[in-house]
Amino acid sequence: MRLSRYFLPVLKENPSEAQIVSHRLMLRAGMIKQSAAGIYSWLPLGFKVLRKIENIVHEEQQRAGHIPMLMPTLQPADLWKESGRYDAYGPEMLRIKDRQDRDMLYGPTNEEMITDIFRSHVGSYKDLPLTLYHIQWKFRDEIRPRFGVMRGREFLMKDGYNFDLTKEDALHAYNRHLVSYLRSYERMGLQAIPMRADSGPIGGDDTHEFLVLADTGESEVFYDSEITDLKFGDREIDFDSVDQCQAVLEEFTSRYARTDETHDADLFAQVPADRQRTARGIEVGQIFYFGTKYSEAMGATVQGPDGKSTPVHMGSHGIGVSRLLGAIIEASHDDKGIIWPEGVTPFHVGIVNLKQGDEEADAACQALYDSITALGLDPLYDDRNERAGGKFATMDLIGLPWRITVGPRGLKNGVVELTSRKTGESEEMTPEAAVEKVA
Ligand code: ATP
Ligand code: MG
Ligand code: MG
Ligand code: MG
Repeated sequence: MRLSRYFLPVLKENPSEAQIVSHRLMLRAGMIKQSAAGIYSWLPLGFKVLRKIENIVHEEQQRAGHIPMLMPTLQPADLWKESGRYDAYGPEMLRIKDRQDRDMLYGPTNEEMITDIFRSHVGSYKDLPLTLYHIQWKFRDEIRPRFGVMRGREFLMKDGYNFDLTKEDALHAYNRHLVSYLRSYERMGLQAIPMRADSGPIGGDDTHEFLVLADTGESEVFYDSEITDLKFGDREIDFDSVDQCQAVLEEFTSRYARTDETHDADLFAQVPADRQRTARGIEVGQIFYFGTKYSEAMGATVQGPDGKSTPVHMGSHGIGVSRLLGAIIEASHDDKGIIWPEGVTPFHVGIVNLKQGDEEADAACQALYDSITALGLDPLYDDRNERAGGKFATMDLIGLPWRITVGPRGLKNGVVELTSRKTGESEEMTPEAAVEKVA
């Protein structure tokens, strides 16, 4: 992409409405524009990162054997009356009437709708296990929308639902989700720690939230510092293997790690004092086993091997796709702007032409652009007629991992300058060497 033809409305001034750095930087980098409290347009740069995050989630869900689909944002109230949640959900639910005076709602989550789909089409245990998911906009009329996309009212969520014959099978699905979530967050350059969460009125203790440590997080968290040494890394895992998935769950959840909702001071006191940590965290996902709560209420049953009809065991599993942009920026930025992890960066490399209109510089930039594109990478070429300082500031703000600076002086010696956004270090090298390094 050539910057002169792109739409990147960067702001020079700090927007006064932004209280935290990720919100400030997303506005300044021209990624989002608020349309109403907690409701945003995703401008091209923000949209690009959102899609990257979605793609990682899709890939990792499908790697785990989960099946993508798409349900609508608007739902009939009738389904929620069946489960009993229409009244229970309260004012976070946006309720709408259509022209026939029918009660509708903008979905805050999809347990009822997916259970309805399941009961309409599945009748035998032979069709299990089954895990369906989608990535769709949700609406929750949050009492205090704030921090930009971190606590929006309209937000993008991946929500997945497993249907299993037995509790053991459903717990395997739970573990598969845990593994796939660990992989997903790491690919986004994030450490998200699974923490014992509150299952609320549903009971049981089979729920974990994934938290990214950040001073601006809304949850208070307590953990054994050893947990931050754990990495999933690039180990191979067989998602069908009950033992392998269970082992990952045990490895990642055996140390103390809880949010304020489930914190137990006596248990925490058993962690060696030098490893006790209290911090703040951003909830970027949650997994849940809730048994037959919805299947019983809504009659989602299958015929078991014994011929008897039995309600299926279910769980639901969510990732805050749009919130993740904020969480990634909270975890990765400096005074000058965003520092995108490679896995989610909107463009791979920025090309800065120090002397637009200089024949040699223009040609060298174009050649770099072509060879980077030919490698299947996505460069952003700042071909505007602007001062070098302004171009550097824009590149630093939008945080691409690499910048290649091209000017007549360097070209005389056959070199360009390659700068790492993360370390700030610059190195002169031939254009070919620079391309090789960013590839
Ligand atoms: P929170 O505690 O932050 O209100 P939640 O527990 O109500 O979140 P879940 O129902 O677990 O949310 O939804 C799954 C994921 O969706 C959350 O882990 C979070 O990452 C994301 N999410 C929830 N509410 C919002 C919101 N208002 N804006 C952006 N993302 C959200
Ligand atoms: Mg909430
Ligand atoms: Mg929560
Ligand atoms: Mg939650």
